[in-house]
Amino acid sequence: MEEELKCSGCGEPNLHHDRIEIFDRGEDAVDGLHVTVTYRQVKTDRNLSGNPSSRRDGLKVYFWCEHCEAITVLSISQHKGTTYLTQAVKETKQSIIVNDSNPLETIEEIINRCKGLSRK
Ligand SMILES: [Zn+2]
Repeated sequence: MEEELKCSGCGEPNLHHDRIEIFDRGEDAVDGLHVTVTYRQVKTDRNLSGNPSSRRDGLKVYFWCEHCEAITVLSISQHKGTTYLTQAVKETKQSIIVNDSNPLETIEEIINRCKGLSRK
């Protein structure tokens, strides 16, 4: 099955994904792992707010559009043994920028941080 993903703002198919968020946790666990990848950088933290699944793992892919300001969000979430695919909590490019308060960690920073942990 292959189908074009269309912009949630204008309906055009010219989308580009530039940000992925992974939410990894056990069922109903309060704590888990949150990974964000964008522009050749990765950030990891324990903040599960924004997880599209209320009880398990989730994934979000963000797309910008060639024709309008909408940010289309494709979400994959698990709930009670079923996996849901949801397009598009529609956000604007401006709201993404405002909410992105923590700078992303570069690959080099992650490697250096991991090297520091292994010495302990
Ligand atoms: Zn659009």
